Amino acid sequence: MAKRETTDELKQRVRDVIRRLKRAYPDAKTSLNHTNAFELLVATILSAQSTDDRVNIVTADLFRKYRKPDDYLKVPAHELEQDIHSTGFFRMKTKSLQGTARLLLEKFGGEVPHTMDELLELPGVARKTANVVLGNAFGIKAGVVVDTHVTRLSHRLGFTQQKTAEKIEQDLIEIVPKKDWVLFPHLMIYHGRKICKARSPLCEECAVEKQCPSSYLKTGDMPGS
Ligand code: SF4
Repeated sequence: MAKRETTDELKQRVRDVIRRLKRAYPDAKTSLNHTNAFELLVATILSAQSTDDRVNIVTADLFRKYRKPDDYLKVPAHELEQDIHSTGFFRMKTKSLQGTARLLLEKFGGEVPHTMDELLELPGVARKTANVVLGNAFGIKAGVVVDTHVTRLSHRLGFTQQKTAEKIEQDLIEIVPKKDWVLFPHLMIYHGRKICKARSPLCEECAVEKQCPSSYLKTGDMPGS
């Protein structure tokens, strides 16, 4: 039976994976277009159950029409629903956007707050969105973004066995160096889109194949998603 990996060995393997993925994806960053924290917050709310490409198409027009939080409150809900329709779940997202705009104006002087606790007060904002905004708009390392790619790759790479995003994030916070908390999910997302795909991972082309316990070159079985 294979020897169980110690925590120190796991941390070393995580650092190794990050180093290799940094080399493979030197430009890894968020693919949601934005020019300020408020736009990133809006784009991240819209990205739920959608693709970043779809969101970027929608925000190209949206950010010309809606520049500040009060712009989202000046229009009736059905007009905003129409403007974000193609991102899916448009009624729920309209409620989140207008509720967020209202609270930003009422409580935060129209500015996006800089703390996790304050961001979590905004409607439609959970830890993932808050981490995206804090890390990518303000450079604040409050946690690790966990999305579908981060979840899948963290399972395949043996970084966690947890199922919920909150618990996966707790595990990652323990083993990913804090300086890499913002970059780590981008590396996972780039690698997940290009190589470690959900249905058919390209293990033979993978930059971290040697560090991965799920490689089908080792196991003979295609990793599950
Ligand atoms: S070896 Fe295969 S399963 Fe492991 S990270 Fe690379 S592509 Fe994904």
